[in-house]
Amino acid sequence: MNKEIYLDNAATTKVDENVMKKVNEICMIHYGNPGSLHRKGFVAEGFMSQAAQIIANHINCDKEEVFFTSGATESNNLAIRGVLNANRRSGKHIITTKLEHSSVKNIYKYLENEYEVTYLDVDNRGYIDMQQLQNSIREDTVLVSIMFVNNEIGTIQNVEMIGKIIKSRNPNTYFHVDAVQAYGKLLINVKKFRIDMLSMSGHKMHALKGIGALYVKKSVKIAPIVLGGGQQRGLRSGTDNTPGIVSMGEATKIAYANLQENVMKMKTFKIKLVEAIMSRIKNVRVNGPSVEEGAPHILNLYIKGIRGEILLHALSDKGIYISTGSACSQKRATLSPVLKAIGCSIEEIEGTVRISFSKYVDINDIPYIVDTMAKCVSEIRQTILS
Ligand code: PMP
Repeated sequence: MNKEIYLDNAATTKVDENVMKKVNEICMIHYGNPGSLHRKGFVAEGFMSQAAQIIANHINCDKEEVFFTSGATESNNLAIRGVLNANRRSGKHIITTKLEHSSVKNIYKYLENEYEVTYLDVDNRGYIDMQQLQNSIREDTVLVSIMFVNNEIGTIQNVEMIGKIIKSRNPNTYFHVDAVQAYGKLLINVKKFRIDMLSMSGHKMHALKGIGALYVKKSVKIAPIVLGGGQQRGLRSGTDNTPGIVSMGEATKIAYANLQENVMKMKTFKIKLVEAIMSRIKNVRVNGPSVEEGAPHILNLYIKGIRGEILLHALSDKGIYISTGSACSQKRATLSPVLKAIGCSIEEIEGTVRISFSKYVDINDIPYIVDTMAKCVSEIRQTILS
């Protein structure tokens, strides 16, 4: 087996070594239940509270406004369903975009029975139209969900302007942001951006899988969707996942302490990789925002005359791991709604791959990656042509 080069960091990431040390300590020494009344419980509760404080410091909220979940899918469910359940009489109109991750999109789809749903269009780079947003907000609009960074094409929405528009049109409309692909990579300020709920996930930023968080502004009326022992101030019952929670706190600390350096590293890698690919392989195009303006860790490429899935498997055989789109939907043979929304044709969607980076990428791997890719692409093009 050749060496492994992991380029699917938008799907999940390697756990940071220092995070793992902390997790080990929690599992082996401080394994008490934060709900227990004895000292071991108290100590565990202290670790949980510290993690909430770290997250709060980095998004500019109070630690009492941070709730831990099993991941961003649950965070999105709690934000959307929890708010709508608690505000049944406030209106029957909700807004989202055509770009959302399935964990938001499928909730809105499910809610179509009960609510009028507006799906905002996006342009060919994946940006929403601020005028359409402004025109869509009504007196009975209860909630708007818009993702910060798109997980397939890396579009970074102007969340600050979106917050301003929502609140100036209707101060009672709640603003929910799925920040999974932004958290730990961009600066987030929930007060400045006027965000009411913000979803985060641990495994996308070098913490454990099965842990997420949801920021809920104190003034938001929200009902729990998981009932039980009343943990986390009644909003999310279930024994607290202290190893996961601590991993997320630690990963947050590490990510923001080295933010500029890591972003520069990923961005440089991305730019150099695109340059090298373009010079070796003909008829390649970047989908979505330009290499410079998109998220530093996400690159979406259309390669004419191939099928993304075939290239993915060919590269996988050589130890290079990429994807064709969202990990949550690619096992089902559906065409990416995100690529459809930005105007790609079926042929373009089928010929697309996503390559995503982390702080662990090594610029010295680029020649090998591009060489291998060029060979695979050439073989695939020949087979498809013949
Ligand atoms: N939102 C976005 C934008 C994502 O990329 C993902 C993960 N693919 C999720 C939500 C779901 O996160 P989790 O895996 O923590 O449930």
